[in-house]
Amino acid sequence: MDDDQFRIETRSIHAGQEPDEETGALMTPIHANSTYEQDAPGEHRGYEYSRTGNPTRTDLEENLASLENAEYGRAFASGMASINTVLNLLESGDHVVTGNDVYGGTHRIFTQVYEDYDLEFSFVDMTDLEAIESAFQENTELLWLETPTNPLMSIVDIEGAAEIAHDHDALCAIDNTFATPYLQNPLDLGADIVSHSLTKYLGGHSDVVGGALLTNDEELDEEFGFYQNSVGATPGPFESFLVLRGTKTLPVRMDRHCKNASAIASWLEDNPDVERVYYPGLASHPGHEIASEQMRDFGGMLSFELDASLEEASEVVSSTEVFTLAESLGGVESLIEQPAPMTHAAIPREERLEAGLKDSLIRVSVGIEHVDDLIGDLKQAFEQGLE
Ligand SMILES: *Cc1c(COP(=O)(O)O)cnc(C)c1O
Repeated sequence: MDDDQFRIETRSIHAGQEPDEETGALMTPIHANSTYEQDAPGEHRGYEYSRTGNPTRTDLEENLASLENAEYGRAFASGMASINTVLNLLESGDHVVTGNDVYGGTHRIFTQVYEDYDLEFSFVDMTDLEAIESAFQENTELLWLETPTNPLMSIVDIEGAAEIAHDHDALCAIDNTFATPYLQNPLDLGADIVSHSLTKYLGGHSDVVGGALLTNDEELDEEFGFYQNSVGATPGPFESFLVLRGTKTLPVRMDRHCKNASAIASWLEDNPDVERVYYPGLASHPGHEIASEQMRDFGGMLSFELDASLEEASEVVSSTEVFTLAESLGGVESLIEQPAPMTHAAIPREERLEAGLKDSLIRVSVGIEHVDDLIGDLKQAFEQGLE
């Protein structure tokens, strides 16, 4: 499919997916297979061994590359496996500039795995371009950022950040999991690498774990392929199939996620029990202006602070009927969680409060149910949890 010709709503369904040549089957077959017949020693038909390449995975990689307006795509066994692959590009002694609010698993692999290999990390406030600039050192090789961030939905100026990285001859990599390629395309804004956890919106149905790296740089893609094959954290054909099934509906799901989240954010903002709402679609959000420029819409994630204690907020998140109390995000079903005792429990309280994560902070992944049922559910949970 000629990517330039079609819009993302069309490419999400068709890119990388031709009907099966032999049978005409519309859907990509699940190539449950490890090895491939060779016509003569060393002469194969594109595939030798499924860690190196598998046709179902290839279709997924082409589909994801198309969605991110990328030339090249590689799929991995998880979002963490794709992040690990980017770190594989670095050498001992290299320095990385990253956000002080990156995803917990990202913080963990940086500090608890790669610091042991003598990589150095600086965690800064990414909403402040001057802070990014001044964190750069002689040995900085990578700028790693997320936007919107978790759980306060802070917005980072991708164009500005990528420019700083390039001024210092460093790579700029963006974890685009929260926004998805439907809402934001970092490569078009100057980033060198986009990383995804396919587990979230791209899979979209809370039934698969996966990751991906997208780039327009052929050399980088070849290195990613080398590490993908060498390390072996590749997705199986069934996982690849599930994500392909998910990406077909990404645009319609995201439209509903955004519409519901926006309505809930407005409702929360007008609620006297709520002290503050963090949703980039609200004019009150500090990142609203940049988000309006670099995103097509504002996403399905939001958080809010209740005028309540940690215990009362725990009572609220335990009292919902439609929202499920759970970590993770990006599925069709609405999830609710309390960062302090859940996703951000590993951060000492003082440090957490300093980062602006109050005890009563609640994060929701807004699903695609009817918005009135979601608002009604929050309403009754507030009544039960808050005396
Ligand atoms: C979930 C997530 C990851 C990790 O992805 P897995 O698929 O769970 O390994 C990385 N970054 C962000 C922003 C995430 O939400």
